Amino acid sequence: MYDALTMPIVMSSTYTFGSTDEIRDLVARKAAGGPPVRYEYGRYGNPTQTAAERKLAELDGGERALLFSSGMAAITASLLSLAAAGDHLIVIDGLYRRTREFVSQYLPRWGIDATFADADDIRAAIRPSTRAVFFEMPTNPHLRVPDAESIVALTKHHGLTTLVDATFATPVNLRPLELGVDIVIHSATKYLGGHNDLLAGAVIGSAERLAGIEEARGVFGGVAGALDAYLLLRGAKTLALRVRRQNESAQCLAEFLEHHSAVSRVHYPGLPSHPDHAVAARLMSGFGGVVSFELAGGLDAAAACIDRLEIPHIGPTFGGVESIAQQQALFVSPDPVERAASGISDGLIRYAVGIESIDDLIDDLRSALRGLPTRGGGGLSDGP
Ligand SMILES: *Cc1c(COP(=O)(O)O)cnc(C)c1O
Repeated sequence: MYDALTMPIVMSSTYTFGSTDEIRDLVARKAAGGPPVRYEYGRYGNPTQTAAERKLAELDGGERALLFSSGMAAITASLLSLAAAGDHLIVIDGLYRRTREFVSQYLPRWGIDATFADADDIRAAIRPSTRAVFFEMPTNPHLRVPDAESIVALTKHHGLTTLVDATFATPVNLRPLELGVDIVIHSATKYLGGHNDLLAGAVIGSAERLAGIEEARGVFGGVAGALDAYLLLRGAKTLALRVRRQNESAQCLAEFLEHHSAVSRVHYPGLPSHPDHAVAARLMSGFGGVVSFELAGGLDAAAACIDRLEIPHIGPTFGGVESIAQQQALFVSPDPVERAASGISDGLIRYAVGIESIDDLIDDLRSALRGLPTRGGGGLSDGP
């Protein structure tokens, strides 16, 4: 537009017609199907949004992309446009909390049933009414990496749609469409935006698969604004640089933590000790910027460690240039029994690495862990 190197932010919510003939032409072309031919009203598209969608489609190697106002708007519109009353979905355990809530609390109200299964139990969960399989890759906070290739072999055989929320991976580390996945979803709020200054979601796939989801977006209304689309385009320019740096730093951090006596367990797919290391090494080109680890000293030790850390902020998100650490158990419940049932251990810290100096990050962690209880009993750690 205007030969501008940087995409302009087009704030118009309305696009006008030169004559009534233009309206007739637009309606006729819409009736014939196919992608939108011009702008009319901001809920159906905007030039800055279109530019961001083209970028997202290229990044994931898809024919088309749809931008939404948040990751949740992308997920809910996708699932609701795929399934109707009487249909059944299979989701793999370890979902983002709000996605799990949508699937277990909301979809049943509209007669859509879902089974939560382990990656290995999908076959057994398939019913005649099953429409789709949805999973995250990697999952949060244990960073499990379902074997998308074998899942796709199964879903294709049964004619099911496969959707992957690849927020943790980004297209830099994982290209699910190349593995045969039908629809990729991202919370663009995280790495794609990368600077903790926008909320957006993305859905990528073939034009055919996305047509119904685009229709749903126009009805439900979860479109991204032009300013967020612009910020996303801007963030995308450095995506590969940021993610590669975060991959490297997270690997260093994970290796440091694995040898630390105050740490009882490290969850990072780049470590050979991770249960999905082999799958991740086969399917992904990087292991991501989030490391989860458990402290031997449990709830209090994890809180002490987070409070002592000077570089990471304390907060709920990840994917930005600033490191952020969070004690997952605190978000689950104040009740120890409920926490135990959630599968998230009291001593677990999710550390989302930013782009700071890795030496500084490790020095900071070493100080924060000093004196905390060590694994295998009681002693206090001086750190390695
Ligand atoms: C954050 C997140 C979401 C939700 O995205 P929003 O942009 O916050 O709505 C969905 N899935 C995963 C894996 C996430 O981390």
